[in-house]
Amino acid sequence: FAKRAGGSQLHFFDAGQALEEKEGLELRRHIVEGVGRNEFWLAYQPKVDMRCGRVIGFEGLIRWQHPHHGPLQPADFIPLVEDHELIEQLGDWAIGEALRQATEWQAGGVNTSVSVNISPRHMQRPDFIERLAAHLARHPQLHPGVLELEILETTAITDFATVAQFIEACKSLGVPVAMDDFGTGYSSLTYLRRLPVAALKLDQSFVNGVIDNTEDQAIVKGILLLAKGLGRQAIAEGVESVAHGQALMALGCTLGQGYGIARPMAPALVPAWILDYERAPLWGRAPDCA
Ligand code: C2E
Ligand code: MG
Ligand code: MG
Ligand code: MG
Repeated sequence: FAKRAGGSQLHFFDAGQALEEKEGLELRRHIVEGVGRNEFWLAYQPKVDMRCGRVIGFEGLIRWQHPHHGPLQPADFIPLVEDHELIEQLGDWAIGEALRQATEWQAGGVNTSVSVNISPRHMQRPDFIERLAAHLARHPQLHPGVLELEILETTAITDFATVAQFIEACKSLGVPVAMDDFGTGYSSLTYLRRLPVAALKLDQSFVNGVIDNTEDQAIVKGILLLAKGLGRQAIAEGVESVAHGQALMALGCTLGQGYGIARPMAPALVPAWILDYERAPLWGRAPDCA
């Protein structure tokens, strides 16, 4: 896996660099046009309860099928627009698309939740909550809790008051917020106490070492304890193998997401994947699971 991921990273990096150099400011126009031409789509990666063999939801990860550069990953274009108004348009598109997809799945008898990554700049838009409410209103048959927003821990550190307000407002609309890449931003325990996030996503950098690195194990244990004490969910990202999942479960972390469970997939594959996984979960099913 590592070799393959490394290889593709290099490829994507090159594509991103080519975009930056050859297209320059053109990129922004291309993104606007790309949204209009449906060149963007969300790949879905499952989040599962590894212990009970249940799918708890999917993370929608943006992809760009570029007419000249082929398939692009977020790293190829998100950083180039992160400080630009375009990130707000992309984020807004992602919310609408996730809700549309969840509605379509629900109509087909597939009930699952979908999370979307929200950039700091987008989050700080004064009308974000108003627009979120408008999105939800377009899908009255959908429970708002089907949507979840992921924000970075680092955002919360730089602008605590805005972020606290943001999370509270999302919550009051019924939309839970998760803190992504948790453990990389040095947020203090007291901060977290005042941020009503529903879940902490343990960053893959230390999930990676959970099999044999005692320090990473200590960090995971610490975050699990913190999450439990504050009544938040904890979910590990970057579960790259069955061994990673087992090591996490041994430490008490039962929720996971990663290549070892499934890679992000096209939406059409999701319904069958859920059936397959729940029929024969990777780690079996603990006896006390309902
Ligand atoms: P993230 O939200 O932390 O998403 C997890 C990233 O790790 C995804 O990469 C996913 O494919 C990858 N991943 C999942 N499992 C594994 C694993 O087992 N091992 C390894 N090495 N990696 C794994 P992706 O899709 O390239 O997304 C990268 C980042 O781009 C995301 O990190 C998120 O911060 C950002 N992003 C993705 N979609 C959007 C979007 O719609 N809007 C914004 N603003 N940012 C997005
Ligand atoms: Mg995320
Ligand atoms: Mg993450
Ligand atoms: Mg990340």
